[in-house]
Amino acid sequence: MCQNPNEAKLNPSHFEGSNEEHQTAQEVEGGFAAYTQGMKFFDPHVHMTSRTTDDYQALADAGVVAIIEPAFWLGQPRTGLASFKDYFASLVGWERFRSSQFGIKHYCTIGLNSREANNEALAEEVMDILPLFLQKEGVVGVGEIGFDDQTAAEEKYYRAQLELAKEMGLPVQVHTPHRDKKKGTERSMAIALEHGLAPHMVVIDHNNEETVKSVLDQGFYAAFTIYPFTKMGNERMVEIVKQYGSERIMVNSAADWGISDPLAIPKTAALMKIKGISAVDIQNVTYQNALDSFAQSGQINEKDFIHGLEIDQSLKFNGNTVLRGGQAPRVDKNSIFIR
Ligand SMILES: [Zn+2]
Repeated sequence: MCQNPNEAKLNPSHFEGSNEEHQTAQEVEGGFAAYTQGMKFFDPHVHMTSRTTDDYQALADAGVVAIIEPAFWLGQPRTGLASFKDYFASLVGWERFRSSQFGIKHYCTIGLNSREANNEALAEEVMDILPLFLQKEGVVGVGEIGFDDQTAAEEKYYRAQLELAKEMGLPVQVHTPHRDKKKGTERSMAIALEHGLAPHMVVIDHNNEETVKSVLDQGFYAAFTIYPFTKMGNERMVEIVKQYGSERIMVNSAADWGISDPLAIPKTAALMKIKGISAVDIQNVTYQNALDSFAQSGQINEKDFIHGLEIDQSLKFNGNTVLRGGQAPRVDKNSIFIR
């Protein structure tokens, strides 16, 4: 959902900054940890299914204590309901287990993504199984849903899923389109309000300078995806927080199977610190606001991860482990992070 083939043409593929910005970017890239000691992070949008155990280890080392994995498309369309079922089941099953093995609390949002809403026959079937999965433990919202090409079918299933979120009292994670962003974002918010959703229950994702003011003015949460080398880099994120403060703003990595950086949040926090953003504002946009918005699901208890998870790699999930032959399990019941 976060990448599309047209993106490369629409956006500069190289970092376009001053020499000074280049230097700071390099410093943050290699040495962010020197600035983020003692900070903890909550990434409310990361597709770990597409990432490796090295990424989990790096996230844990960088202070990421909790994550939300939204259901999205897989880079190619699914051909049947069973693929959706297995994918949703993996988000509440194996992937959550895998995350726990690195001391990171894993939550997810479940929904029919906008691209695959365009296969209406399949979309109808997916709608039927959503309520079952939305009731599972650790599911903190309906997402990521919304518009991609802004077709009639996308609108139909966006509306249907807003109704479902309202019925079930769950927050909504809204993917805004990369093309016609401003129009698509306004349309997404107007439809959510039309369906009677409270703005504080809706997280509007993938914002930029053009959309942020209206999103905040209307009372929604505004999420920003930090894309490496592209349109929403972390330098620009710093400017947004300087201008708008930190209320209802959150950053995420949206890391997936495309070129993306799961460490985008700690790196942005380091840059914010270098640029003189206050500790409270940094905490709000890299941890607290993600927690507060999705905790409205009733599914998140900060006590579960604030002091670190107990790591026991000798545990298994349906008989399967993250270990390979000959590897010793790490059993670390009292430490905050594994090292
Ligand atoms: Zn995504």
